[in-house]
Amino acid sequence: MGLEEYQRKRNFEETSEPKGEVKPSDGKIYVIQKHQARRLHYDLRLEMDGVLKSWAVPKTPPLEKGVKRLAVQVEDHPIDYANFEGVIPEGHYGAGTVEIWDKGTYTLKKRDENKIVFEIHGQKLKGEYCLLRFKDDKNWLFFKTK
Ligand code: MN
Repeated sequence: MGLEEYQRKRNFEETSEPKGEVKPSDGKIYVIQKHQARRLHYDLRLEMDGVLKSWAVPKTPPLEKGVKRLAVQVEDHPIDYANFEGVIPEGHYGAGTVEIWDKGTYTLKKRDENKIVFEIHGQKLKGEYCLLRFKDDKNWLFFKTK
């Protein structure tokens, strides 16, 4: 995907979000940002392919097995975004407050077009999780498997 969509949606003279760039990386950042926008949601981000692959989760991320959450894939974010906290001004894309809700690293176990299995090493989320795409679009299910 790259960062074209991310950068097109934002005015970096008005928001304090990082403009960012695609970086060669083999890091394994995991972060969830609580985003109090028009609707509260949680943004799950995983460092992959030089960017943060991103999903918006409308409800509290699953802390235990048996809870399945919708996770809507959104535009790739720059790796620098993993540290972003702040207020996106009114009238701008994503207007509202962003705070880091959980952060750590992850270990990739399996990845194909429709399924990502990974172990999360966070403060709140720990253990094996799965992202499973359904109906070949932006909608995934996010749940704990172990
Ligand atoms: Mn968001």
